[in-house]
Amino acid sequence: MDPIIIGAAVVLVLLIVGFVVLRTRGPAPVAEPLPPSEVGLRERLGKSRRALTERLSALVGSTRLDAEFWSDLEDTLVGADLGVATAIDVVEQVRGRSPGNGEEARLEVERQLIEKLSGRDRVVHRSTKPSVVLVVGVNGTGKTTSIAKLAAHLESEGHRVLLGAADTFRAAAGEQLRTWGSRVGVDVVGGQEGADPASVAYDAYHAAKARSLDTVIIDTAGRLHSKTNLMDELAKMGRVLRREAGHIDEVLLVLDGTTGQNAMDQARTFTDAVGVTGIVITKLDGTARGGMAVAVEEELDVPVKFIGVGEGMHDLVPFDPEAFVDALLGP
Ligand code: GDP
Ligand code: MG
Repeated sequence: MDPIIIGAAVVLVLLIVGFVVLRTRGPAPVAEPLPPSEVGLRERLGKSRRALTERLSALVGSTRLDAEFWSDLEDTLVGADLGVATAIDVVEQVRGRSPGNGEEARLEVERQLIEKLSGRDRVVHRSTKPSVVLVVGVNGTGKTTSIAKLAAHLESEGHRVLLGAADTFRAAAGEQLRTWGSRVGVDVVGGQEGADPASVAYDAYHAAKARSLDTVIIDTAGRLHSKTNLMDELAKMGRVLRREAGHIDEVLLVLDGTTGQNAMDQARTFTDAVGVTGIVITKLDGTARGGMAVAVEEELDVPVKFIGVGEGMHDLVPFDPEAFVDALLGP
């Protein structure tokens, strides 16, 4: 046979094999955005930082710290959603330190805020295997997304996680959690639409226990139009989990950072109904209201444990007071 024909046939076969191999490898994995540690918290909290430093910049140049200066400083802190009580208190403390100029005052504000936030227990508690984390909050605050991020965070630390889709109010809610579960690489136990959330929580807990997994995280519904029902439902879920597991390790309340002080009333409803042990504040990447983290913690006396700073899998960071305050108003 003509060697040219043989050569052409070999090339053709190689091309076909190459094409088939490429096709069967499937789509390239979706690139996850870089975690905030690599992008920088300052950048993620950029809106809050710009708003606060813009207002502060006029004050920082001051050499005379008169009554007007202190009142402007207070307004600036209130404007950053730190809350009136916190702002008044911080200004009082800073004044008491008698800073010599505006820049010294700014430094002292930073110190006071860090001090306010320090000494809180921000650890995600885990005890029995599986430890139990219940996640609550109003619709749309970012519960499901935060659960996926938390699962990714725990898995990256070597903990094996299972998710329970107890938001059975909408079929789409379970679907959303399953999609996240497969992205993160964790299993999801769910129920039919309309199923009793407490029974889903029960199933998820026992599935995690049977598989000797480390943590089960339960997603819940957050519809507001039937507040009493929702709170009853959460309370029942709490009772079932406590009965089965002996206790609940964490009840995390998810608050939407873009709602600022409005989140406070919601938060109280939940803290009164279920014993909230930690707060997650989401969407701080899209708001100038970052200061609300301080206000929420002060007013509710519950530690902020995580903040959400983006929509990607890695965009949930453990709340670190020094890094947070530095990102908001550090030099
Ligand atoms: P749920 O109803 O409380 O479960 O809320 P979801 O988890 O479904 O989130 C509602 C929307 O908020 C989704 O579009 C999320 O992508 C978005 N979201 C959640 N957390 C964050 C965050 O930290 N930053 C941003 N920019 N969006 C977020
Ligand atoms: Mg949800």
